[in-house]
Amino acid sequence: MLKRLRSVLGLALPHQACVLMYHRIASPEADIWKIAVEPANFEQQIQFLAKKSTVLSVPELVEALSKKQVRSNTVALTFDDGYADNFLVAKPILDHYGVPATFFVASQTIDTAEEFWWDELENILLFTPQLPTTFSLTIAGEVVVGSLEQEAHLSAALRQQLQRWDACDEPAPSRRAGLFLEVWRKLRLLPYTEQQQYLRTIREWAGVLPSQRPDYRALSLAELRELGASELHTIGLHTHTHPALAFHAAKVQQHEIQSNQSFLEQETGRQPTILAYPYGNHNQETIAVAAELKLQACFTTEVKPVNRDADKFRLGRFQVLNSPLSSFAQQLRKWQSG
Ligand SMILES: [Zn+2]
Repeated sequence: MLKRLRSVLGLALPHQACVLMYHRIASPEADIWKIAVEPANFEQQIQFLAKKSTVLSVPELVEALSKKQVRSNTVALTFDDGYADNFLVAKPILDHYGVPATFFVASQTIDTAEEFWWDELENILLFTPQLPTTFSLTIAGEVVVGSLEQEAHLSAALRQQLQRWDACDEPAPSRRAGLFLEVWRKLRLLPYTEQQQYLRTIREWAGVLPSQRPDYRALSLAELRELGASELHTIGLHTHTHPALAFHAAKVQQHEIQSNQSFLEQETGRQPTILAYPYGNHNQETIAVAAELKLQACFTTEVKPVNRDADKFRLGRFQVLNSPLSSFAQQLRKWQSG
């Protein structure tokens, strides 16, 4: 009730910050996880934030939180994964408006032509022009069976339907999408080496080579170093191989975070101490590891603002969608008054 009154009367916003979560600044043909924001929309969002909000760097926000001095109308920006477009497209826009961001970088994919496993799986199962009709694969002891029937061939109509699919909010609209989701859910829980083995098997089944689309690549080493050298921006931890941490032993979790940290420190000359959990996934052991490594703060994907009493190991974020300025501004206002 208070909240509603406050927003109706346009009174002061509560003392909380909104941390925005981006992944890609790009216009891919398909974006089933809604993680890409078009460069033009991104530029408008950044211009708006620079004018209308106090944009703090993530380390500044963490510092304010430690002093319980989080102020209203403050925003901080984060990017997950380490796609090359963060450097090529986002950085020049951020630099132009003097807006700081933190880039959470998974190190395994850096400087490789390899795509992230979720992108490659999507490309194979959803968009290969011709697939075999039947699929059968035992993944981690469970058999996944699929029958694509007429969808073995990717018609123009099916391609369009799959390109428009919002996998976050909509059920699988077709057989290909259903099969993709089932395999995705299983692979997400596995260690990197097993994911890669299954991907190899799936590639062979599909009769395709490893997909290495240039606009899906991760940062090169040179790009990472340049990003890391920026006075405005910071590099954060996102683990080495991007596992769903809670599904792995504490030792594995520690190794994932520590090897990511040493890699990034070696390449950028600065030791990152802020982490974003891959997929937002974590458990008590993850938090114990983070505390042991003296990390300053950790971000989940929980949709909530950072207020003065926020738990520094479970900070929430808001995923920014590819929306034009008017809906972005409206959304931001809602997040800020929430
Ligand atoms: Zn991620």
